[in-house]
Amino acid sequence: MSESPEMAKFFHNLTPAQHERLSILLEELGEAAQAIGKILRHGLDSHNPVIDDGSSNRSMLEKEIGDVFAAVSMLTAASDLDRGSIESARRWKIEKSQRWTHHQPRISGPPGAEEALREENARL
Ligand SMILES: [Mg+2]
Repeated sequence: MSESPEMAKFFHNLTPAQHERLSILLEELGEAAQAIGKILRHGLDSHNPVIDDGSSNRSMLEKEIGDVFAAVSMLTAASDLDRGSIESARRWKIEKSQRWTHHQPRISGPPGAEEALREENARL
């Protein structure tokens, strides 16, 4: 089956720099997913017995989440994505999570949601 002329003509119109930034984000999201998989299989404080460099699964996930944040920063710094929209989505997710999670501490919601969550976690 051949493509129509319109389909053959369409391309994503990303610049090489945008493509690279999105590739970095995709790669880092995959690495974070892999770290979560290790935690779900072996626990937060487990580590790779073959490559024992002192890194726990927890520290590997922390590193990969930092890498994801860095990739997002690259995208917002270049104005590929809007930081305000991301922040709004983050706040909305926290608020929505209050209703649809079963095991998470209740927090008062934004603003101050993070502080409330920290206080709640400290009590647990
Ligand atoms: Mg990484």
